[in-house]
Amino acid sequence: MQFIERAELKKKPERGTELGFGRYFTDYMFTMRYTRGQGWHDARIEPNVPQSFDLATGIFHYAQGVFEGIKAFRREHGVAVFRPDENWARMNRSADRMCIPAFPTDVVEEGLGELLRIERDWIPTEAGTALYIRPVIVSTHPMLGVHASPEYLFFILLSPVGSYYAHGFAPTKLLVEDVYARAVPGGTGEAKCLGNYAASMKAGALAEAQGFDQTLWLDATEKKYVEEVGSMNIFFVIDGEVITPALVGSILPGITRKSCLQILRERGYRVSERRISIEEVAQAAREGQLDEMFGTGTAAVVSPVGLFRYRGVDYTPKNATGEITTKLYREITGVQCGSIPDTRGWIKLYE
Ligand SMILES: *Cc1c(COP(=O)(O)O)cnc(C)c1O
Repeated sequence: MQFIERAELKKKPERGTELGFGRYFTDYMFTMRYTRGQGWHDARIEPNVPQSFDLATGIFHYAQGVFEGIKAFRREHGVAVFRPDENWARMNRSADRMCIPAFPTDVVEEGLGELLRIERDWIPTEAGTALYIRPVIVSTHPMLGVHASPEYLFFILLSPVGSYYAHGFAPTKLLVEDVYARAVPGGTGEAKCLGNYAASMKAGALAEAQGFDQTLWLDATEKKYVEEVGSMNIFFVIDGEVITPALVGSILPGITRKSCLQILRERGYRVSERRISIEEVAQAAREGQLDEMFGTGTAAVVSPVGLFRYRGVDYTPKNATGEITTKLYREITGVQCGSIPDTRGWIKLYE
């Protein structure tokens, strides 16, 4: 793979720096281009420096683009990446929904491996930190007209990160949104496509202004059934049963969600993927039957929910940080950092 070296390396954040989330980026990135008639070509590692684009470029106008989020961890011998094959498969499914041609996963895997070997020293090692991998595809053809672009850029950025929420593994507060919708049936909710996040910002800003961490989204049609949190899938533990909304097309099929479901089933918990109304959750909370509530996602891993507000009323689970929430957090972060053996083949080790 072609490697273009940069003249001068960046200054890395010092040990102990509050990394936050997505604030620092490494020296290099992986890139690959697509041209209609030629396919994907010119995979390479190049300096991560500002790029210039014609302002007529498709991505600036119609958001024809998709992304992923993956985490990597430094090991004594190499770099451990959590379930990247799942991300590449999902990225190609998102791409298909957005009319973006499928990319060859073997080329991208090789590119990521090269990039990780070069950028190993950027990976933080303190507890709770990781290297966040952000693959993106954007349309690059400079022409107006709402049609699939004949040209794309695939790139992978690397960012050393701390915890997603400023308060770490502390309970979050969610505001149930019953006016705005994130995703509609037949829409793009199950694709990790750029526009979904732009569409969610208004409700997110209103929630934050009232002191909440994120929005808890309901279904767009009836505003009745719980969907997800916008960067996390949601789980409830009601009277011993672990419930997460079924993937109905408007919910992002999270890889952390899938991993948690597998762990819970292996351990013999009663687990359901089904429709669950916000009223059922509120009722359970009122009756003291809502044992725990948590969100799952690559960035936040497993994040306890300590409170949600629905139509002006605050509800709290019995345990702000429950037993199942804590177990799942420990199991997933343990497998990721290597303190728990990876018996399920979830770790891809790049040496
Ligand atoms: C990425 C994302 C998630 C979490 O998915 P993971 O694969 O677990 O990281 C959940 N909801 C939305 C809307 C997302 O974009």
